[in-house]
Amino acid sequence: MVSPKFLVSGGKRSPIRELSEYGAAQAAIVGRENVYDFSLGNPSTPPPKEVEDAIIDIIQNDDPVEVHGYSSNMGLDSCRQAVAESYNRRFGTELDKKNFMMTTGASTALNVVSLALNIDEQSEIMVIAPYFPGYTQACDAGGNRMVVVPPDMDGFQINFAEMERLINPHTQGVIINSPNNPTGVIYSAETIQRIGALLEKKSREYGHAIYIICDEPYRELVYTDAEVPYIPKYYRNTIICYSYSKSLSLAGERVGYIATDNDIDDFDQVWIALRGAAGIVANVCAPTLFQKVVERCVDVAPNMADYVYNRNLLMDAFAKIGYEFARPDGAFYLYFKAPFGMDAQEFSELAKKYNVLIVPGFGCPGYLRLSYCASRRSCEACIPFMQKLYDEAREIMAGK
Ligand code: PLP
Repeated sequence: MVSPKFLVSGGKRSPIRELSEYGAAQAAIVGRENVYDFSLGNPSTPPPKEVEDAIIDIIQNDDPVEVHGYSSNMGLDSCRQAVAESYNRRFGTELDKKNFMMTTGASTALNVVSLALNIDEQSEIMVIAPYFPGYTQACDAGGNRMVVVPPDMDGFQINFAEMERLINPHTQGVIINSPNNPTGVIYSAETIQRIGALLEKKSREYGHAIYIICDEPYRELVYTDAEVPYIPKYYRNTIICYSYSKSLSLAGERVGYIATDNDIDDFDQVWIALRGAAGIVANVCAPTLFQKVVERCVDVAPNMADYVYNRNLLMDAFAKIGYEFARPDGAFYLYFKAPFGMDAQEFSELAKKYNVLIVPGFGCPGYLRLSYCASRRSCEACIPFMQKLYDEAREIMAGK
């Protein structure tokens, strides 16, 4: 006998993973170069040179027993202190190592926060559509009901009327993801201020803090001069979840952290709960080698050249063809509408015929996500197929 709950969740395949596995199977048949896989957010850009230099230097010069051993559960003091000092330089904060816990990526960080915020079986965590599908697991991992704020289809900012309507005494946290996966949209300082004012009001009304869970693996991946607001400046009850998967192209290495500012309510209790929750998800420690890499590379900028090229190329081509899409100021996704009112799943299936793999869904009917952290060659090669797909969708929908 196994858990009925996990029989259900384990039986459901992630559409992203399913499409990427389909791509791997197709590659074996038609050749890798003929599959245009835009499913996963897996950087095809190598880590910056500083990261590779740091790995080599650590392997050659640091004590191998330490490098390959466990670190403390919270993470290496020196790594957490280096991350804190980077925050202080960038955001004018006064943080130190006590404000950080290293985790095996943002996924683990989100699971830990969800667990730490669960106070009873009625607890809820709010997410804003469209949203990263991993939030379903994170809410579930903590035993929280996930409440979805319907999308603001006009610019993919936030549907405040719905957000206010859905907040209730069981709301424990609201996940804010900016730059956003899947839209690439960055929430402005005014938007963050407005969320903060609403949560402040509701926290007072219900007599307990409603936390912003600020999920920001794409913080540094920005293409315009848009500012990515440092959310704790606007709302003190903020818990940050960060990852080096995207900014340093270290998705397979599993390293990120949880952070809070000093003025979060009940600082000590929040951190005791986070430590307890980290034990439950077996965040024994983030990989020590990569904590040491992070320590040396805290201020290293991401390799943006491919993403800039792909973004500009695809935005241009999609606009010329006639696709509607959210303007991606950050991250590395193009979130576009299936043309002529076609169902997004149907469009994704149609695209498979050209081995173009794009994922439908993320909480907005009719939309699909193209992940342009793929190679330049794939992005260039997909454009004629996107034109054909547009024309075919027109014919199909005209015949319906
Ligand atoms: N949050 C968002 C918005 C993401 O897009 C991802 C990964 O794609 C994650 C969290 C998880 O990142 P990690 O690789 O650090 O677990």
